Amino acid sequence: MSQETFSEKIIRVSYGTSIELGLKSALNMVPPTTAYLLHDRGCEGGCSFCPRSGGMKEESRLARVSWPEYKLSSVISGIQNSSANIKRICLQTTFNKAVESEVASISESLSSLKKPLCVTLHPSQTDFIPDLFNSGAEKVGIGLDAATENVYSIHKASCWKSDFPKVLEAIRKYPKRIGVHLIFGLGNSEEEFAKLINFLHESGCSAIALFAFTPIAGKETSGAARPPISSYRRIQTFRYLNSKRLINIDQIKFINGQIVSFGVSNSILEKELSDGEAFRTSGCNDCNRPFYNESPRGPIYNYPAKLSHPEVVTAFSELFNDPITANKIQIETQTAFS
Ligand code: SF4
Repeated sequence: MSQETFSEKIIRVSYGTSIELGLKSALNMVPPTTAYLLHDRGCEGGCSFCPRSGGMKEESRLARVSWPEYKLSSVISGIQNSSANIKRICLQTTFNKAVESEVASISESLSSLKKPLCVTLHPSQTDFIPDLFNSGAEKVGIGLDAATENVYSIHKASCWKSDFPKVLEAIRKYPKRIGVHLIFGLGNSEEEFAKLINFLHESGCSAIALFAFTPIAGKETSGAARPPISSYRRIQTFRYLNSKRLINIDQIKFINGQIVSFGVSNSILEKELSDGEAFRTSGCNDCNRPFYNESPRGPIYNYPAKLSHPEVVTAFSELFNDPITANKIQIETQTAFS
């Protein structure tokens, strides 16, 4: 299908991306390094935490970010003329099988822009993955979101027993090309999360994109809660060190589902965390999702840019600073940079 066919099509663009592409006149506090686009023709999914679920396509938000609408042709021109800051394109989609061919066509158009493209899918859409790779996508990100069957059934309105094996099959079939999105705070423990992350890494997943559950005004999400920052720092640390094959799940000590030891020496932990990379947004290369999870006023769950030394010191201290359990649990790896 020619690009002209698309010229009138409407696509949503994250607010920060719209500034970066010159579509909106404003300043970005932290510019996105990926162009985030959202294709929504009415989502048939029922994710408890998503403002777009149940076909709310007029809703402007996804997570806490607003996504204004533009013509696809303007977005394509914006990407063509964008600064070198934009290193990747991410086409986020909602669950609607009836419009998969349109998504594949848009993916083909975006792939021609010579920047790596990823497309996100619902876990029930793994059959669509070959079409996306044929259309030129470099990677596919799957919104698994939950780490266990019970939490999945509560929040995803879908069936883990049929979805998860297919996600796993795709990860194994396309090594290092399938990423998984996970939301911490939906009700899983640190132990459940770490075990799934370890399993996905061992299975050949390209990357885990970590999100902190963010309550949305007007959206009731029972059983989910904003995670304590210390708990989120431990999940970030596990994900980072596990992705680098520096630690394995068998080394980790848990008490009541909480990580109390990473099973590595203080010197390794200090060395590996000292650049702050563990606390940055995770996922595809060059994906920084500025303030997707949090207000710029903080607390910052996913740092969208390189951390300053004071930020590293703060993030590291948060790792061990759990007000609920600090007096009860001896964290064996306790140390400090300051
Ligand atoms: S990790 Fe980032 S760039 Fe990759 S699919 Fe997820 S949101 Fe998009």
